[in-house]
Amino acid sequence: MVPYGRQNIDEADIEAVISVLRSDFLTQGPAVPAFERAVAEYCGAAHAIAVNSATSALHLACLALGVGPGDRIWTSPITFVASANCALYCGAEVDFVDIDPHTFNMCPSALEHALEQAKQDDRLPKVIIPVHMCGQSCDMATIKALADRFGIRVIEDASHAIGGRYRNTAIGHCDYSDITIFSFHPVKIITSGEGGMAVTQDKTLGEAMRLLRSHGVTRDPGLLTAPAHGSWYYEQLELGFNYRLTDIHAALGLSQMRRLDEFVTERHRIADRYDRLLEGLPLAKPGRNMEALSTWHLYVIRLDTKAVNHRAVFEGMKANGIGVNLHYMPVYLQPYYAKRGFLPGKCPEAERYYSGAMTIPIYPSLTNDLQDKVVMTLRDCIRESGAS
Ligand SMILES: *Cc1c(COP(=O)(O)O)cnc(C)c1O
Repeated sequence: MVPYGRQNIDEADIEAVISVLRSDFLTQGPAVPAFERAVAEYCGAAHAIAVNSATSALHLACLALGVGPGDRIWTSPITFVASANCALYCGAEVDFVDIDPHTFNMCPSALEHALEQAKQDDRLPKVIIPVHMCGQSCDMATIKALADRFGIRVIEDASHAIGGRYRNTAIGHCDYSDITIFSFHPVKIITSGEGGMAVTQDKTLGEAMRLLRSHGVTRDPGLLTAPAHGSWYYEQLELGFNYRLTDIHAALGLSQMRRLDEFVTERHRIADRYDRLLEGLPLAKPGRNMEALSTWHLYVIRLDTKAVNHRAVFEGMKANGIGVNLHYMPVYLQPYYAKRGFLPGKCPEAERYYSGAMTIPIYPSLTNDLQDKVVMTLRDCIRESGAS
């Protein structure tokens, strides 16, 4: 099976992990701050907090922004469930803003309309979480201008987007947000096995996330409420968590940072080639935002469902060894969210997207031959689906 995505591990990555295993510290050693410094430097962010997943980073980011019961968070329906679940972890409510059908990102005009309505109803969100779907930045300038107009904070879910750029600054520079979060799951752009990171320019937010990452416990003399009783002394100041990344994971992540730009370049080469190879087929290729440099985490096509049977093509690809996927069913259609009262029809563009979307394989080591096989198989499946 050709997977839709996969990690790329070289000998230097393996050596980096082994050297941690031979060292004194498997966790809370020097690899974690080194990984944090590398990502902070890459993005031009002042503060970086490594955690054990992007899900944990989203949770900490919400808590640092003061999200709690009675608050609301808005995100995109076309995302992984974690972008919405973080609101519920904090006891807040979540709601969804429909997507732009070309970029699959949160639609700024849908957002504006929803914000105007929410202001009238006195139900404005505290935080919005735009998701850089497939690694292509949202229209952040417009989203941030709206957030400022309505007094809302912004977390960028850049789980797909480390290595991407927007208006010529790196994703993670936080020009248009308070906090940006990254994922290092193996299918993402770089991996640490499991892992995530939150980056911010704001010292207070950075310190809050750092404290909550590790039980809310600190030895920092600047934060202690009383003189230390001795050199053993630490204080718990908040109800935090154990969301720490291990040095084993951090060493892999740090090693992968060396090749981040190379990975993105390879993904661009493959995406550009798909754009040419898919010409003339009954499908829409992913739309491009000229202000963004995508990471091409995912290459999503939208089949013309008037001409072809989406499900038949999808299953046909799988039966022929092509590991296609569907990113994502609108989150609010998940049974857990349906139980909370969300109804089909809420975000029509997201639901239309779901009815025809298909992720086809893209990862740095995908060869031209395999890519040709993906496209040939797709042609066959489309032809068969149209005939049936
Ligand atoms: C992968 C992903 C997450 C969660 O990342 P983990 O590191 O697996 O917790 C969150 N949001 C989006 C959009 C993702 O793709």
